[in-house]
Parts: sequence; C-alpha cells; structure tokens
Amino acid sequence: MVAVIRNWIVKQLMLGEFRSYRDVCRKSVLVGLKAAALAYGLNLGSHFLLYGFGMLPYELGSAVVIATVLTPPITFILASVSYVAVGFAIHDLGVSRAELQRLSRTDMLSGLANRRAFLEQFDSCDREKFLIVIDIDRFKRVNDKYGHSVGDQVIVKVAEMLSEVFGESGVCARIGGEEFAAFSADLSFSEFAALGELARIRIAGMRIDAEPGDLSVTVSGGIARALPEQKFGEAFSRADKALYAAKTGGRDRIVLSYETGEAEPGQSDTAVA
Ligand code: GH3
Ligand code: MG
Ligand code: MG
Repeated sequence: MVAVIRNWIVKQLMLGEFRSYRDVCRKSVLVGLKAAALAYGLNLGSHFLLYGFGMLPYELGSAVVIATVLTPPITFILASVSYVAVGFAIHDLGVSRAELQRLSRTDMLSGLANRRAFLEQFDSCDREKFLIVIDIDRFKRVNDKYGHSVGDQVIVKVAEMLSEVFGESGVCARIGGEEFAAFSADLSFSEFAALGELARIRIAGMRIDAEPGDLSVTVSGGIARALPEQKFGEAFSRADKALYAAKTGGRDRIVLSYETGEAEPGQSDTAVA
C-alpha cells in the first residue's frame, strides 16, 4: 500500500495529473463530488443500519434531513480544498523537479544539451545512426588573443550554428570545452556528412565582433557510423580518430571515419558519393 502511494506521488511529481493549477482545480471538483457522494452514502447507510437495529437515538426523518443538508457540502468543501492544497504543492514540486532535470541536462554556456544528456540519448537510440564530433580549431589562440569572454562568445555562436544546421534532424550537444557533437538516426550517411560539411562552411563564414577586430574561426570534425546496438563510446572513438585526422590534415575539414582506414561497421554501404 505504501509502495503504491509512493509510486503514485512520484508519478505525479512528473506532473501527471498536476500539469497546471487549472487541472488541479478541475480535478478537485471531481474529487470533492466523489467524496461528498461517498460520505453521504455512508452517513445515510449508517443511520438506516442503526435504525434497523433499533439503536437510533433520534428520529430517522430529521437524521436524514440533517445528513442531506450538511454531509455533502461539508465533505465537498473539505475534500476539494485539501485536494487543491496538496495538488498545488505537488504541481510546484513537479515544476521545480522538471526545471532541475532540464538544468542538469543543459550546457549553461551554449544552451545545447550537455555531454550526459547527449550520451543518454545516443545510447538509448536503438537505430543505426551517425555521429559527428566537432572541435574548434586553434581555440586557445582565440582565448589568448581576445580574452576568455570572447572565447565564450565564439562557443555560443558555434553552438547556435550547429543547432541551426543539425537541429531539426538530429541531437546536438556541447560535450567538452570547445568540442561539440551531433547525431542523427533519421538521415542517410551522405545526408549527414553533407550537414557536417554545411556546418563547417557556415562556421568558417561567421564574423564575430571583438576587439581589436572581428574574428572568425574554423572547425574540424570526424564522422562515424554506429550500428543500433553500438554505444557512444565505440562510435566516439572512431569519430575522434577521424577528428584527429582532420586536425593533422590541416584543420577546417570534416573526415569520415572509414577514410582513416578504420573498419566501419557495415562499411560496404557507408560509402559517400
Ligand atoms: P586544436 O585546433 O588542436 O583543437 O587547438 P585548440 O587550441 O583548439 O586546442 P587546445 O585543446 O589546445 O585548447 C582548447 C582551449 O579551449 C583551451 C581552453 O582554455 C579552452 N576552453 C575550454 N573550455 C572553454 C570555455 O568554456 N570557454 C573558453 N573561453 N575557453 C575554453
Ligand atoms: Mg580545439
Ligand atoms: Mg578540443
């Protein structure tokens, strides 16, 4: 019984029946009516029972009148007010819980999903998917020359662009300092690679206001394929090798994992035109 109530409360803290104050008020009327009907029925039943056993100390007629006049409204008020009080508290707790959950899965600087949220989504997606890992090139130099806050601004701009490019068709995240990732299970390998390339070109074309003069950055990326059962770690290590190849190959480029000589899962059909 305790477990049932506990599970019910936990479920409601996910804002099950308490999504809004209006829902709570609406439900409180129903609960009040049910409680009033139940209390009225029990009250009448008890009176008739006592009357049947000859134990009713007063007249049945006036007992029924008083029960009818008092029991339903009093029970309705008590039950609905209690429900509203508890319901509002559950609603407020549920909202703060949802907000805390959202914050724990969001990267505060860029507003993208954080590494933890990204891994969870990647690992729980049981379809074939493609992963890109993207790293800002020579970012240390940006910090050194323009300062950390301009560096932060660059991270935000790159994040916005990645979200614009991959937003609709994939999940995008900031998985480290100046490192981002995106995955999609809805695109073909070549469509996904084309988005990676588009993101690279658009980022290279961005101008960021700064002193002593506007700046631009480039990014490098590595793309790998993951079979349905493959977890983030496996795909990441191949994508990261491809990213490393992009860095050593001169930066400002996207390298596909199989181009590095790595055996890709189901390699025969990953070839990009
Ligand atoms: P590479 O092209 O090889 O990636 O060179 P890099 O300079 O980008 O790489 P490196 O790993 O040497 O430097 C990354 C820098 O990113 C160092 C660190 O101070 C900076 N960084 C990490 N997180 C943040 C952040 O949140 N804000 C700012 N402004 N800088 C950050
Ligand atoms: Mg870098
Ligand atoms: Mg890096």
